[in-house]
Amino acid sequence: MANHSIVARDLTYAYGENLAVDHISFEVGEAEIFAYLGPNGAGKSTTVKMLTGQIRPKSGTAALLGMDIAREPNKIQHHIGVAFETTNLYPQMSATENLALFARLFGVKADIPTLLERVGLGTRAKERVEGFSKGMKQRLMVARALVNKPRILFLDEPTEGLDPVSAEAIRELILETRANGATIFLTTHDMLEADKLSDRVAFINQGKIMALDTPHKLKQQYGKRLLKAEIERADGGLDTREITLDSADTGEAVKRLFENEKVVTVHSEEASLEDIFIQVTGRRLMG
Ligand code: ATP
Repeated sequence: MANHSIVARDLTYAYGENLAVDHISFEVGEAEIFAYLGPNGAGKSTTVKMLTGQIRPKSGTAALLGMDIAREPNKIQHHIGVAFETTNLYPQMSATENLALFARLFGVKADIPTLLERVGLGTRAKERVEGFSKGMKQRLMVARALVNKPRILFLDEPTEGLDPVSAEAIRELILETRANGATIFLTTHDMLEADKLSDRVAFINQGKIMALDTPHKLKQQYGKRLLKAEIERADGGLDTREITLDSADTGEAVKRLFENEKVVTVHSEEASLEDIFIQVTGRRLMG
Protein backbone atom coordinates (compact mmCIF):
# COMPACT_ATOMS: atom_id res chain seq x y z
CA MET A 1 0.00 0.00 0.00
CA ALA A 2 2.82 2.41 0.91
CA ASN A 3 4.10 2.85 -2.63
CA HIS A 4 0.71 2.98 -4.30
CA SER A 5 -0.33 6.46 -5.35
CA ILE A 6 -3.89 5.40 -6.13
CA VAL A 7 -5.86 2.51 -4.68
CA ALA A 8 -9.46 2.04 -5.84
CA ARG A 9 -11.71 -0.63 -4.37
CA ASP A 10 -15.11 -1.46 -5.88
CA LEU A 11 -15.67 2.10 -7.01
CA THR A 12 -19.21 2.45 -8.31
CA TYR A 13 -21.25 5.30 -9.72
CA ALA A 14 -24.69 5.41 -11.33
CA TYR A 15 -26.50 8.23 -13.10
CA GLY A 16 -30.06 7.17 -12.26
CA GLU A 17 -30.38 3.63 -13.56
CA ASN A 18 -27.25 3.89 -15.67
CA LEU A 19 -24.35 2.15 -13.93
CA ALA A 20 -21.52 4.27 -15.36
CA VAL A 21 -18.76 2.75 -13.20
CA ASP A 22 -19.39 -0.76 -11.97
CA HIS A 23 -17.30 -1.99 -9.01
CA ILE A 24 -13.91 -0.99 -10.35
CA SER A 25 -10.72 -1.90 -8.44
CA PHE A 26 -7.12 -1.10 -9.34
CA GLU A 27 -3.88 0.29 -7.98
CA VAL A 28 -1.49 2.76 -9.54
CA GLY A 29 2.13 2.75 -8.41
CA GLU A 30 4.27 5.73 -7.54
CA ALA A 31 5.68 7.49 -10.62
CA GLU A 32 3.72 5.20 -12.89
CA ILE A 33 2.03 6.35 -16.10
CA PHE A 34 -1.32 4.61 -16.03
CA ALA A 35 -3.53 4.78 -19.12
CA TYR A 36 -7.27 4.36 -18.76
CA LEU A 37 -8.39 3.34 -22.20
CA GLY A 38 -11.94 2.96 -23.43
CA PRO A 39 -14.52 4.12 -25.99
CA ASN A 40 -16.93 7.03 -25.50
CA GLY A 41 -19.23 6.43 -22.57
CA ALA A 42 -17.08 3.66 -21.04
CA GLY A 43 -16.94 5.41 -17.66
CA LYS A 44 -13.49 7.02 -17.81
CA SER A 45 -14.51 10.55 -16.90
CA THR A 46 -16.84 9.32 -14.18
CA THR A 47 -13.96 7.39 -12.59
CA VAL A 48 -11.69 10.45 -12.68
CA LYS A 49 -14.46 12.66 -11.26
CA MET A 50 -14.77 10.30 -8.29
CA LEU A 51 -11.02 10.10 -7.75
CA THR A 52 -10.58 13.88 -7.90
CA GLY A 53 -13.48 14.67 -5.59
CA GLN A 54 -15.90 16.16 -8.14
CA ILE A 55 -18.55 13.52 -7.42
CA ARG A 56 -18.98 11.08 -4.53
CA PRO A 57 -18.91 7.35 -5.24
CA LYS A 58 -22.24 5.56 -4.70
CA SER A 59 -20.21 2.78 -3.14
CA GLY A 60 -16.63 1.60 -2.86
CA THR A 61 -13.56 3.47 -1.66
CA ALA A 62 -10.42 5.03 -3.02
CA ALA A 63 -7.27 6.47 -1.53
CA LEU A 64 -4.81 8.88 -3.13
CA LEU A 65 -1.33 8.96 -1.54
CA GLY A 66 -2.80 7.03 1.37
CA MET A 67 -5.58 9.62 1.94
CA ASP A 68 -9.17 8.47 1.71
CA ILE A 69 -11.12 10.44 -0.92
CA ALA A 70 -14.22 10.59 1.28
CA ARG A 71 -12.46 11.57 4.51
CA GLU A 72 -9.69 13.92 3.35
CA PRO A 73 -10.88 15.52 0.10
CA ASN A 74 -9.45 18.98 0.84
CA LYS A 75 -6.03 17.75 1.82
CA ILE A 76 -5.86 15.66 -1.35
CA GLN A 77 -6.48 18.72 -3.56
CA HIS A 78 -3.08 20.16 -2.64
CA HIS A 79 -1.27 17.10 -3.95
CA ILE A 80 -3.07 16.52 -7.22
CA GLY A 81 -3.28 18.32 -10.55
CA VAL A 82 -6.28 17.92 -12.82
CA ALA A 83 -6.56 18.83 -16.50
CA PHE A 84 -10.05 17.80 -17.27
CA GLU A 85 -12.94 18.58 -19.59
CA THR A 86 -14.62 20.47 -16.76
CA THR A 87 -11.53 22.54 -15.96
CA ASN A 88 -12.38 26.22 -16.28
CA LEU A 89 -10.03 28.83 -17.58
CA TYR A 90 -10.88 32.52 -17.28
CA PRO A 91 -11.23 33.79 -20.86
CA GLN A 92 -10.86 37.48 -19.93
CA MET A 93 -7.54 36.86 -18.24
CA SER A 94 -4.16 36.25 -19.83
CA ALA A 95 -2.38 32.91 -19.66
CA THR A 96 -0.08 34.25 -16.94
CA GLU A 97 -2.99 35.67 -14.93
CA ASN A 98 -4.84 32.35 -15.09
CA LEU A 99 -1.87 30.49 -13.66
CA ALA A 100 -1.12 33.22 -11.09
CA LEU A 101 -4.71 33.07 -9.83
CA PHE A 102 -4.50 29.33 -9.48
CA ALA A 103 -1.17 29.57 -7.63
CA ARG A 104 -2.74 32.07 -5.21
CA LEU A 105 -5.69 29.75 -4.61
CA PHE A 106 -3.28 27.01 -3.66
CA GLY A 107 -1.05 29.35 -1.70
CA VAL A 108 2.00 28.27 -3.69
CA LYS A 109 4.77 30.07 -5.54
CA ALA A 110 5.01 28.95 -9.13
CA ASP A 111 7.55 29.67 -11.83
CA ILE A 112 4.88 30.70 -14.32
CA PRO A 113 7.15 31.81 -17.21
CA THR A 114 8.91 28.42 -17.15
CA LEU A 115 5.62 26.53 -16.99
CA LEU A 116 4.25 28.44 -19.99
CA GLU A 117 7.49 27.87 -21.84
CA ARG A 118 7.23 24.14 -21.20
CA VAL A 119 3.78 23.95 -22.81
CA GLY A 120 4.89 26.10 -25.74
CA LEU A 121 2.97 29.23 -24.70
CA GLY A 122 5.98 31.31 -23.65
CA THR A 123 5.41 33.93 -26.34
CA ARG A 124 1.64 34.11 -25.72
CA ALA A 125 1.87 34.61 -21.95
CA LYS A 126 0.28 38.08 -21.91
CA GLU A 127 -2.56 37.33 -24.33
CA ARG A 128 -6.12 36.83 -23.20
CA VAL A 129 -7.22 33.21 -23.19
CA GLU A 130 -10.42 34.03 -25.14
CA GLY A 131 -8.27 34.40 -28.25
CA PHE A 132 -6.58 31.02 -27.80
CA SER A 133 -7.21 28.01 -30.04
CA LYS A 134 -8.57 24.78 -28.55
CA GLY A 135 -5.08 23.27 -28.53
CA MET A 136 -3.59 26.30 -26.80
CA LYS A 137 -6.30 26.17 -24.12
CA GLN A 138 -5.60 22.49 -23.66
CA ARG A 139 -1.90 23.15 -23.17
CA LEU A 140 -2.69 25.94 -20.71
CA MET A 141 -4.88 23.52 -18.74
CA VAL A 142 -1.98 21.10 -18.49
CA ALA A 143 0.26 23.95 -17.28
CA ARG A 144 -2.39 24.93 -14.74
CA ALA A 145 -2.55 21.36 -13.47
CA LEU A 146 1.21 21.55 -12.78
CA VAL A 147 1.14 24.83 -10.84
CA ASN A 148 1.08 23.15 -7.40
CA LYS A 149 3.75 20.57 -8.35
CA PRO A 150 1.27 17.71 -7.97
CA ARG A 151 2.28 14.22 -6.92
CA ILE A 152 -0.54 12.81 -9.02
CA LEU A 153 -1.49 14.37 -12.34
CA PHE A 154 -4.87 13.50 -13.87
CA LEU A 155 -5.06 14.20 -17.57
CA ASP A 156 -8.19 13.74 -19.64
CA GLU A 157 -7.44 13.21 -23.34
CA PRO A 158 -4.51 15.65 -23.11
CA THR A 159 -3.51 15.48 -26.76
CA GLU A 160 -6.93 15.12 -28.39
CA GLY A 161 -7.34 17.51 -31.28
CA LEU A 162 -3.78 18.83 -31.02
CA ASP A 163 -1.45 19.14 -33.99
CA PRO A 164 1.37 16.56 -33.96
CA VAL A 165 4.01 19.01 -32.69
CA SER A 166 1.88 20.19 -29.75
CA ALA A 167 0.84 16.61 -28.99
CA GLU A 168 4.48 15.55 -28.85
CA ALA A 169 5.30 18.51 -26.58
CA ILE A 170 2.56 17.40 -24.18
CA ARG A 171 3.84 13.80 -24.24
CA GLU A 172 7.35 15.01 -23.43
CA LEU A 173 5.96 17.07 -20.59
CA ILE A 174 4.17 13.99 -19.25
CA LEU A 175 7.41 11.98 -19.32
CA GLU A 176 9.32 14.84 -17.71
CA THR A 177 6.70 15.18 -14.96
CA ARG A 178 6.92 11.48 -14.25
CA ALA A 179 10.73 11.67 -14.22
CA ASN A 180 10.31 14.22 -11.42
CA GLY A 181 8.46 11.57 -9.41
CA ALA A 182 4.80 12.30 -10.15
CA THR A 183 2.23 9.65 -10.97
CA ILE A 184 0.20 10.17 -14.14
CA PHE A 185 -3.36 8.97 -14.63
CA LEU A 186 -4.22 9.43 -18.27
CA THR A 187 -7.59 8.83 -19.91
CA THR A 188 -7.46 8.36 -23.63
CA HIS A 189 -8.90 6.57 -26.58
CA ASP A 190 -5.68 6.93 -28.49
CA MET A 191 -4.18 3.45 -28.25
CA LEU A 192 -0.94 4.43 -29.92
CA GLU A 193 -0.40 7.07 -27.28
CA ALA A 194 -1.25 4.59 -24.52
CA ASP A 195 1.14 2.05 -26.01
CA LYS A 196 3.96 4.56 -26.32
CA LEU A 197 3.59 6.41 -23.03
CA SER A 198 2.13 4.19 -20.39
CA ASP A 199 3.63 1.67 -18.02
CA ARG A 200 0.29 -0.07 -17.64
CA VAL A 201 -3.02 0.12 -19.44
CA ALA A 202 -6.52 -0.57 -18.16
CA PHE A 203 -9.13 -1.44 -20.77
CA ILE A 204 -12.47 -0.09 -19.67
CA ASN A 205 -15.82 -0.91 -21.26
CA GLN A 206 -19.35 -0.38 -19.96
CA GLY A 207 -18.10 0.65 -16.53
CA LYS A 208 -15.87 -2.37 -15.99
CA ILE A 209 -12.15 -3.03 -16.28
CA MET A 210 -11.79 -5.80 -18.83
CA ALA A 211 -7.99 -6.16 -18.74
CA LEU A 212 -5.13 -4.44 -16.95
CA ASP A 213 -1.43 -4.93 -17.61
CA THR A 214 1.64 -3.53 -19.33
CA PRO A 215 1.15 -3.04 -23.08
CA HIS A 216 3.78 -5.73 -23.63
CA LYS A 217 2.06 -8.33 -21.44
CA LEU A 218 -1.35 -7.56 -22.93
CA LYS A 219 0.10 -8.27 -26.35
CA GLN A 220 1.67 -11.48 -25.11
CA GLN A 221 -1.50 -12.62 -23.40
CA TYR A 222 -4.16 -11.69 -25.93
CA GLY A 223 -2.33 -10.73 -29.03
CA LYS A 224 -2.53 -12.96 -32.02
CA ARG A 225 0.40 -12.75 -34.36
CA LEU A 226 0.03 -12.98 -38.07
CA LEU A 227 2.68 -15.15 -39.68
CA LYS A 228 3.36 -14.86 -43.37
CA ALA A 229 5.60 -17.55 -44.82
CA GLU A 230 6.91 -18.08 -48.32
CA ILE A 231 7.25 -21.75 -49.14
CA GLU A 232 9.14 -23.25 -52.04
CA ARG A 233 7.16 -25.80 -54.08
CA ALA A 234 8.62 -28.92 -55.65
CA ASP A 235 8.61 -27.16 -59.05
CA GLY A 236 10.71 -24.35 -57.57
CA GLY A 237 7.88 -21.78 -57.49
CA LEU A 238 6.83 -19.94 -54.33
CA ASP A 239 3.58 -20.22 -52.34
CA THR A 240 2.60 -17.68 -49.68
CA ARG A 241 0.85 -18.93 -46.60
CA GLU A 242 -0.73 -16.80 -43.83
CA ILE A 243 -1.33 -18.26 -40.39
CA THR A 244 -2.77 -16.58 -37.32
CA LEU A 245 -0.92 -17.66 -34.23
CA ASP A 246 -2.27 -17.63 -30.71
CA SER A 247 0.01 -16.26 -28.03
CA ALA A 248 -0.03 -19.79 -26.59
CA ASP A 249 1.57 -21.25 -29.72
CA THR A 250 5.14 -22.16 -28.96
CA GLY A 251 8.04 -22.04 -31.35
CA GLU A 252 7.91 -25.86 -31.48
CA ALA A 253 4.27 -25.85 -32.57
CA VAL A 254 5.09 -23.35 -35.29
CA LYS A 255 8.01 -25.49 -36.45
CA ARG A 256 5.74 -28.53 -36.76
CA LEU A 257 3.40 -26.56 -39.03
CA PHE A 258 6.19 -26.33 -41.57
CA GLU A 259 7.85 -29.69 -40.92
CA ASN A 260 7.87 -30.95 -44.45
CA GLU A 261 8.11 -27.64 -46.20
CA LYS A 262 10.92 -25.55 -47.48
CA VAL A 263 10.35 -22.16 -45.86
CA VAL A 264 12.08 -19.34 -47.72
CA THR A 265 10.98 -16.26 -45.71
CA VAL A 266 8.92 -15.72 -42.57
CA HIS A 267 7.41 -12.43 -41.52
CA SER A 268 5.39 -11.95 -38.34
CA GLU A 269 3.26 -9.00 -37.23
CA GLU A 270 2.42 -8.14 -33.64
CA ALA A 271 -1.15 -7.24 -32.66
CA SER A 272 -1.76 -3.59 -31.78
CA LEU A 273 -3.48 -2.50 -28.56
CA GLU A 274 -6.50 -1.64 -30.71
CA ASP A 275 -6.65 -5.25 -32.00
CA ILE A 276 -6.45 -6.53 -28.46
CA PHE A 277 -9.10 -4.13 -27.22
CA ILE A 278 -11.50 -5.45 -29.87
CA GLN A 279 -10.62 -9.00 -28.92
CA VAL A 280 -11.20 -8.41 -25.21
CA THR A 281 -14.29 -6.20 -25.35
CA GLY A 282 -15.80 -6.91 -28.76
CA ARG A 283 -15.84 -3.14 -29.34
CA ARG A 284 -13.75 -0.65 -31.24
CA LEU A 285 -12.17 2.22 -29.34
CA MET A 286 -13.26 4.85 -31.81
CA GLY A 287 -16.56 5.40 -33.54
P1 ATP B 1 -15.84 9.91 -23.19
O1 ATP B 1 -14.65 9.24 -23.81
O2 ATP B 1 -16.91 10.19 -24.19
O3 ATP B 1 -15.50 11.09 -22.32
P2 ATP B 1 -16.18 8.28 -20.80
O4 ATP B 1 -15.55 6.97 -20.86
O5 ATP B 1 -15.46 9.35 -20.06
O6 ATP B 1 -16.56 8.78 -22.24
P3 ATP B 1 -18.35 8.83 -18.96
O7 ATP B 1 -18.44 10.28 -19.30
O8 ATP B 1 -17.75 8.46 -17.66
O9 ATP B 1 -17.61 8.04 -20.12
O10 ATP B 1 -19.82 8.23 -19.07
C1 ATP B 1 -20.17 6.94 -18.62
C2 ATP B 1 -21.68 6.77 -18.73
O11 ATP B 1 -22.34 7.68 -17.86
C3 ATP B 1 -22.23 7.03 -20.12
O12 ATP B 1 -23.29 6.11 -20.35
C4 ATP B 1 -22.77 8.45 -20.00
O13 ATP B 1 -23.86 8.63 -20.87
C5 ATP B 1 -23.21 8.53 -18.57
N1 ATP B 1 -23.08 9.90 -18.03
C6 ATP B 1 -21.93 10.60 -17.92
N2 ATP B 1 -22.14 11.81 -17.36
C7 ATP B 1 -23.47 11.89 -17.11
C8 ATP B 1 -24.33 12.88 -16.53
N3 ATP B 1 -23.84 14.04 -16.07
N4 ATP B 1 -25.66 12.61 -16.44
C9 ATP B 1 -26.14 11.42 -16.88
N5 ATP B 1 -25.40 10.43 -17.43
C10 ATP B 1 -24.08 10.66 -17.55
